[in-house]
Amino acid sequence: METHLADFIRHTSAGREAEEILGRCVHCGFCTATCPTYQLLGDELDGPRGRIYLIKQVLEGVEPTEKTRLHLDRCLSCRSCESTCPSGVHYTRLLDIGREVVESKVPRTGGDALMRGALKNLLPRSMLFGTAMKLGQSVRMVLPGALRAMVPPLSSAGAVPQRSHARRLIALAGCVQPSMYPNVNGATRRVLDRLGIQMVEAAGAGCCGAVRAHLNAAEGARDDARRNIDAWWPLLESGAEGLVMTASGCGSHVLEYAYLLQDDPDYAVKAARVVLATRDISEVIAAEAARLAPLLQDCALLPESQRVLAFHSPCSLQHGLKIRGAVESLLTAAGYTLTAVADSHLCCGSAGTYSVLQPELSQRLRDNKIGALTAGGPAVIASANVGCMGHLQGATALPVKHWIEVLDARLSA
Ligand code: SF4
Ligand code: SF4
Repeated sequence: METHLADFIRHTSAGREAEEILGRCVHCGFCTATCPTYQLLGDELDGPRGRIYLIKQVLEGVEPTEKTRLHLDRCLSCRSCESTCPSGVHYTRLLDIGREVVESKVPRTGGDALMRGALKNLLPRSMLFGTAMKLGQSVRMVLPGALRAMVPPLSSAGAVPQRSHARRLIALAGCVQPSMYPNVNGATRRVLDRLGIQMVEAAGAGCCGAVRAHLNAAEGARDDARRNIDAWWPLLESGAEGLVMTASGCGSHVLEYAYLLQDDPDYAVKAARVVLATRDISEVIAAEAARLAPLLQDCALLPESQRVLAFHSPCSLQHGLKIRGAVESLLTAAGYTLTAVADSHLCCGSAGTYSVLQPELSQRLRDNKIGALTAGGPAVIASANVGCMGHLQGATALPVKHWIEVLDARLSA
């Protein structure tokens, strides 16, 4: 696509990057067919090709309006379009550049600005969010239905293994997961322990930075990355073999650290090493499949009533990390029969803070996803990301669990 960027951005690194991305797009529109917001709204400007066109216009000097901003706001950053694109267009990086420019030219006001400010400041602070979540959990039964659906019941991390192992992996506690689903890292710790790997969490690490990145607070997101690298570095230097991510959304964002900090002389090299050392929990467990198999053989047979499971692959897992089929294979090996899930490439509508900022579209996507996940009559729904789990659980009475919790429970049977 031929572009003529305006002076305000032409000679900046963002401008050069945008030009390179725009140059790859041949305007074929294949991506539009797999875009969830285009499928819901049927407007070209609510699909990737239309949004690319809008961003191109803005970078070429056309003044954006609130309508331009709305079309970009409605994007889930799910990356389904990137999976489909035959030309390798890195759409979400262009989107981030476009959103930053549009937001600077059409500033947010009123409730929208307040809500985004509150999300930026509350969610990444695990202490603050944890206190608010505990409060919500203590009065959960009297909360209005919509709010109650966002607050999972109080739960614990379960038993903590006491053995230490020569092999160590650093896990990210994250910001919302410890208070919403503490058993996810608890289960990870126990499964890894059975495989002879010790899970450690670094004091001082916190939110991966995805929350601020999705809310256009790029410098705040870089600060989150630097803080985490500082917390992880001594453990990496003292022999930890790498990092394990138990939320695919966080893992997908941590893999962006090298890109985010490429111009930071103090952190560029460290960030590149962190990226190389980072793996999703499904990659870690799949690599240990030979040692997992005899442990599974010793488990009791799964009762028939619990055998059918539906797996929701988060966008961050299948489109961000491009991990497809690994979790499904592990769950099948653990004795589960996985249902066929229609339109499994589509987002469930959680998408970071999207469920709060675009509730109507988010709920329509969730309803569609719940319909697809329950069509095969599963006893349980499994996923791989805290946001999807909380979002889906709000709309079904079936238990929604992280797949590592399912595997942990199998190994304890
Ligand atoms: S599929 Fe790729 S090349 Fe085709 S319009 Fe979409 S982004 Fe552009
Ligand atoms: S990231 Fe998702 S919602 Fe946004 S344009 Fe691409 S497919 Fe559509």
